Amino acid sequence: MAELIQQLIDQGYLKTKKVIQAFKRINRRDFVLPDMQSESGKNIPLSIGHGQTISQPLTVAFMIELLDIQEGQKILDIGSGSGWTAALLAEIVGPKGKVFAIERIQELKDFGESNVSKYNFVKSNRAIFIVGDGIKGLPEQAPFDRIHVAAAANKIPSTLLKQLTIGGKLIIPQGINFQDIVLIEKIGKNKYQQEKFPGFNFVPLIGSD
Ligand code: SAM
Repeated sequence: MAELIQQLIDQGYLKTKKVIQAFKRINRRDFVLPDMQSESGKNIPLSIGHGQTISQPLTVAFMIELLDIQEGQKILDIGSGSGWTAALLAEIVGPKGKVFAIERIQELKDFGESNVSKYNFVKSNRAIFIVGDGIKGLPEQAPFDRIHVAAAANKIPSTLLKQLTIGGKLIIPQGINFQDIVLIEKIGKNKYQQEKFPGFNFVPLIGSD
């Protein structure tokens, strides 16, 4: 993984000290299936079963850097899968922050939660895992400073926009065959600013219209 991290730094995908430190401390190997461990340092998505994948490191680095996460923030991680991104986010927000991780497949929620437990984020309540439909967000815990979505929506779910703080940011892949990564900042009560980054490929966000 050290070689890949250096490559992502050299290519400009990893930029910020705290994000680089999180990539170094949270080992992707802890989040893949046993027979995939030798592949965990490669810049490719890997199967985690149930037709799903742990995302490609380049894409995760790109999305997390765009979110510009600050210590102490409350984050919603939708499509937590292996738990890797939830652990990275928990490391970046630090002990005063919180990550709510939603996954629609019970077995993957359990897989992700047990992987993240290797880092003591679950016991300390810094990362909380929930089975559910991420499109609905988590109204009982809203608003969120940041929302990270790991699967592609056809349309940006308005429920998620409503669950952002003012100044909050949502990052979500959007599109059917190929996707844009869309970064949306809430700049006022019903006011949003958006930026698009084309050329990515994600599994679909189930139930998105
Ligand atoms: N962040 C994950 C990781 O680090 O391994 C990425 C996992 S994968 C690319 C996307 C995940 O989104 C899958 O585990 C899938 O089951 C989940 N997913 C798809 N639609 C969902 C929905 N509507 N609500 C919650 N999770 C969903």
